[in-house]
Amino acid sequence: MKTKGLRRPFGQKKSVSLFTLGTMRALESEEQMYRVVKAAFHAGINHLETAPAYGPAEIFLGKALRRLKQEEIEPDGGWIITSKILPGSSFCEGKKQLKNLLSRLKKERIDNLAVHGLNLYEHLHWTLDGDGAKLLRWAQEEGLISQVGFSSHGELSLIKEGIKSKRFDFCSLHLHLLDPERIPLALYALDNGMGVMAISPADKGGRLFDPSPTLIKDCSPYEPIKLAYRFLLAKGISTLTIGAFQPKDLNIAKQLLNASENLDQKEINAINHLQKQRELRLGETLCGQCKQCLPCPQAVPINEILRLRNLSLGHDLTVFAKERYNLIGKAGHWWETVNATACNHCGDCMPRCPNNLPIPNLLEETHQLLAAAPRRRLWS
Ligand code: SF4
Ligand code: SF4
Repeated sequence: MKTKGLRRPFGQKKSVSLFTLGTMRALESEEQMYRVVKAAFHAGINHLETAPAYGPAEIFLGKALRRLKQEEIEPDGGWIITSKILPGSSFCEGKKQLKNLLSRLKKERIDNLAVHGLNLYEHLHWTLDGDGAKLLRWAQEEGLISQVGFSSHGELSLIKEGIKSKRFDFCSLHLHLLDPERIPLALYALDNGMGVMAISPADKGGRLFDPSPTLIKDCSPYEPIKLAYRFLLAKGISTLTIGAFQPKDLNIAKQLLNASENLDQKEINAINHLQKQRELRLGETLCGQCKQCLPCPQAVPINEILRLRNLSLGHDLTVFAKERYNLIGKAGHWWETVNATACNHCGDCMPRCPNNLPIPNLLEETHQLLAAAPRRRLWS
């Protein structure tokens, strides 16, 4: 059985569907993974994203793909698999990890291997000059992988350097309608011939699968998740990941199978309205995300914390904002390490803010608004 939706270039090799199945949520059983991958096929998806860090995902995925092959369920040109490897291992250890990864997937080779979490400069050096460089070269020469990429939660300058290095064929970035800061980097990567995958734009972009009534109104007449996906697809982002828990989570991918066209006027109006509503609700306390207040001597990530405040008060996304805020300091180099309580009210940042925001007070208020018990963290 064959099915096909629109494909976009992803680096120099095989083209990928507009949506990618992220396998980090279908971890309850082999059967669940099988049902989700089958649904991905029926949604026109040909690209599967996994990682050793997603627990049993690779094992379940390997078995699901075998079963689907027996049922002759495979996209035209076959499945494209992207897995990942954490930076920092020795050459020998990395070889072992890659061989184990292939064995769990029951594959002799995969299309794409990404450095998982190129978040620090030392990760970039590992990849370009260290044992990582040796490992990736070896893996390509042996034909175990076709393309090399990276995912990053790191600072913009680091991501830019990764792209500029020309070592990578693709990258996975946080690109969101409600947090478009990295869009210029994504466009830069596309201009450099790289594939760009948006990391979980629904979940990490504001828990858009469970939007607040306020956000629903703000995005009307579109569902927030659909508007967010269309925003990214219209920008030319190669593919968007959906971390499906059950087959019906992929219905939206089926609906947007070919939705690559530019935004129409109605969609543009909806996005403008969304921004306008945020500005109206936050009034003079809106943080414009310009970062001119940085650096803070206490390393407080002022813009990130006030971005969460923007979302909480601007669109009633408090559940999401709390989830992110309470991860600060608990996710190593994957997220911010210092929260608002580190502010000692020195006032250094305030003259630099073009909006004249009372930054220390807003930070304090945000802490009171968002500090709470965190949810379980999923890899991204
Ligand atoms: S007032 Fe607080 S946030 Fe601003 S620079 Fe001083 S410590 Fe940092
Ligand atoms: S300078 Fe002001 S507006 Fe700009 S990011 Fe900092 S707090 Fe926000």
